[in-house]
Amino acid sequence: MSLKGAGARLLIAIAVGFLLGLLVGFALLYAPEATRSGAATWFKALGDIFVRLIRVVIPPLIFFTIAAAVASMADLRRLGMVLLWMFILYIGTSALAAFQGVLAGTIFQPGVGVGLKPPANYTPPTPPSAVDILLSFFQTDFSSLLTVGGSMTMIIFAIILGVAAVLLGGEGRNLYTFLSLGSKVMITTVRIVMYYAPVAIFGYAAWLISTYGPKMLGAYGMFLLAQYSFTFLHFFVIYSIIVAAGGLNPLKYFKYQFTPFLIAYTTRSSAVNLPYNMEAARRMGVPDEVFQITLPIGATVNMDGTALYQALSALFIAQLFGISLTPAQVGLAVVAAVIGSVATAAIPGGGTIMLAFVLGTLGLPLEGVGIMMVIDPITDAIRTAVNASGDTACSVLITKLVGLKLRQES
Ligand code: ASP
Repeated sequence: MSLKGAGARLLIAIAVGFLLGLLVGFALLYAPEATRSGAATWFKALGDIFVRLIRVVIPPLIFFTIAAAVASMADLRRLGMVLLWMFILYIGTSALAAFQGVLAGTIFQPGVGVGLKPPANYTPPTPPSAVDILLSFFQTDFSSLLTVGGSMTMIIFAIILGVAAVLLGGEGRNLYTFLSLGSKVMITTVRIVMYYAPVAIFGYAAWLISTYGPKMLGAYGMFLLAQYSFTFLHFFVIYSIIVAAGGLNPLKYFKYQFTPFLIAYTTRSSAVNLPYNMEAARRMGVPDEVFQITLPIGATVNMDGTALYQALSALFIAQLFGISLTPAQVGLAVVAAVIGSVATAAIPGGGTIMLAFVLGTLGLPLEGVGIMMVIDPITDAIRTAVNASGDTACSVLITKLVGLKLRQES
């Protein structure tokens, strides 16, 4: 089964699940109260099963994808300059994107006024101090790494383990083979879990509409408006500046990026889009020695669209549940979104799965993941298109920063 075909089928199944959920949800609004609330509980459970499954999958997914990516950098020293600039640009642009997500959430206020009830056992967290935040990156024992809240420590552990594999030299190759196989297996595991997504989305849509009514649809519409407008802003303004600084006419950049943009938009996978991104970078004149490093790593770690989305989603979920975030928590949302986007797998829906990490870090209700799953195909399309576009834009500038020149168009 081709990935594209499987993605398209899943997309259709999710759309059908969503529409059915809406229909059932609306129908239930006319049912007697006891029937409505009884059914809503069951529909919510269908969605909760999905959230619980992904919570289980997250720790090994983070571990294997990151450790494998680091362990693959065997020639780290030779490529030091490219990697250094790549790191600075990828993190810098993702931070900018996450910041725009916060702006979008603050300006559009897409979740305000819906008034979802936080789960019964929910207690608003006390805002953490800077020291608390720093220490929370480092869990106290190994078993904590296996929880969603321990993801940050898991990332640090995965990086150190990946570096250890590199330092082991020849012997370390076996570990790399194992890690990269583990990474593939975990991505496939996520795909299998995704087969359940249409049912979960049906359940959540029916639950949300029957419980909160059409108010929720307005909130989704507002979220999409906020996300699309700011994501396009990032795409057109920030990438124009970056490629112009790298010596490429932005119009040429947009012309060559057009095809990968559309492919990423429809397949919703940066990994699937990689070959098209490479072709575009070649046409932009980026030397092979640069884009062969920056694009594969970028597809995995550089996700501006996802960073923007995750920061905006965190604000949205807080607004939906009427939880107000302190300025420190908003700052933490930006940091968590950057890290979350780095840890997001380049697969359809990866960003919403990793949203659990961002919400967990901020102490927000994890039901938010299920709520965002409902419109995931629409939010994922634009974030993936911009995730991919950021990789080529940065590659243009990296070429200049490491003292190389863009090749003339052939
Ligand atoms: N689908 C996105 C990508 O592959 C990741 C995400 O879900 O945010 O880039």
